[in-house]
Amino acid sequence: MTTSTTYDVVVVGAGVFGVWTAWHLANRKQRVLVVDSYGVAHSRASSGGESRIIRMSYGADEIYTRWSQRSLAQWKELSAASGPPLFHPTGVLWLAGEDDTRLRESAATLKRCGIRHDVLERATLEERFPQVSFAGVSRGLLEPESGVLLARRAVASVLEEATWRKARFLIAHVLPPQGDKPLHYIETANGERFSARQFVFACGAWLGKMFPELLGPRIFPTRQEVFFFASPPGDARFSPPTLPTWFFQADDVYGMPDIEARGLKVARDTHGEPVDPDTQSRLASPEGAAWAREYVARRFPALKDAPIVETRVCQYENTSNGDFLIDCHPDIPNVWLAGGGSGHGFKHGPALGEYLAGRLCGELPEEPRFSLASKATQQNRTVY
Ligand SMILES: Cc1cc2nc3c(=O)[nH]c(=O)nc-3n(C[C@H](O)[C@H](O)[C@H](O)COP(=O)(O)OP(=O)(O)OC[C@H]3O[C@@H](n4cnc5c(N)ncnc54)[C@H](O)[C@@H]3O)c2cc1C
Repeated sequence: MTTSTTYDVVVVGAGVFGVWTAWHLANRKQRVLVVDSYGVAHSRASSGGESRIIRMSYGADEIYTRWSQRSLAQWKELSAASGPPLFHPTGVLWLAGEDDTRLRESAATLKRCGIRHDVLERATLEERFPQVSFAGVSRGLLEPESGVLLARRAVASVLEEATWRKARFLIAHVLPPQGDKPLHYIETANGERFSARQFVFACGAWLGKMFPELLGPRIFPTRQEVFFFASPPGDARFSPPTLPTWFFQADDVYGMPDIEARGLKVARDTHGEPVDPDTQSRLASPEGAAWAREYVARRFPALKDAPIVETRVCQYENTSNGDFLIDCHPDIPNVWLAGGGSGHGFKHGPALGEYLAGRLCGELPEEPRFSLASKATQQNRTVY
């Protein structure tokens, strides 16, 4: 058994929540250690995908609109400082079916927050995007300044920036905390101990394994499949800026244009089956592929016979209603829990890290929506 350096904060988990928390702490001159079992934004992590949408529309949930807005500024700064861009301003087009309540709520929130947007009627959509079938769509809301983050690479860049600010990174598997309250150290599977004043557990879908009694019943990991379709040769209609990122609300399906020639991305936002993030198969199912082919043929008729060129299988780490979990452990006062990204958390990494660093440093009050007390053991999704 070896006990090493004492840190101000140990962050367990190098996904988007962990690395942005480490970045903000290191930026405040805190001595930070980041530990991950598998590496930064690895293929089993929720942050390990190629791309993630950053949009501002959250209906009447203004808190998330403001966090997106705050985060976009930080993502853009990171992107500008990196080599190839990490943010692609493709625009994001939210498409309402018969019921456009949410679209109208989003438009009102965006107006209040001073965010550029255009409401487009069906006829305008058809004129501007003739490569898309808008059957069943009443109108759309376009955010021209939103877009896509290159997820895996962006998380690696944030960690690199944090290490320039003297944070340290280590690959090691952290064991669930035992015994002392407050916690004095974490222990890894190979017997190393790391002590700190405070500990952040940003373990994504693994939070339930780390705190089985407390979070096992409160974090719901679900299987999510993603498909990429190749465009016909020489056809740029499915690439930015011709096609924006999109979400068909009535279908619960989203996707994005062909970025970095990976293909048109399509995925369902409905929750898949419950899974274990360590053992679930990362091969897309034949049923999922058949669904994606049928959907793409219906919404993008020119891609009817397009081949699937890549697939990804990942997991959402849902809370009961989709609100994040960012709170202190109820029994261990120097342990913090950060997770529950619930299929929409990636974009918020910078604002979440800023908020959590502020809480750890005792500067910010608690936001009730992120509290553990508000997390139920039955799912009833209300945040999209
Ligand atoms: C298919 C898909 C599409 C999505 N699309 C979007 C989108 O378009 N826009 C958006 O904003 N969000 C999106 N999301 C959600 C977003 O990606 C997640 O909410 C976010 O990445 C969660 O990050 P995290 O840091 O909490 O978890 P993770 O990225 O999973 O990181 C947790 C880390 O903790 C580590 N860890 C766990 N246990 C231990 C241990 N014992 N010891 C050491 N390390 C440990 C893991 O190895 C892992 O690296 C999507 C998610 C999926 C799956």
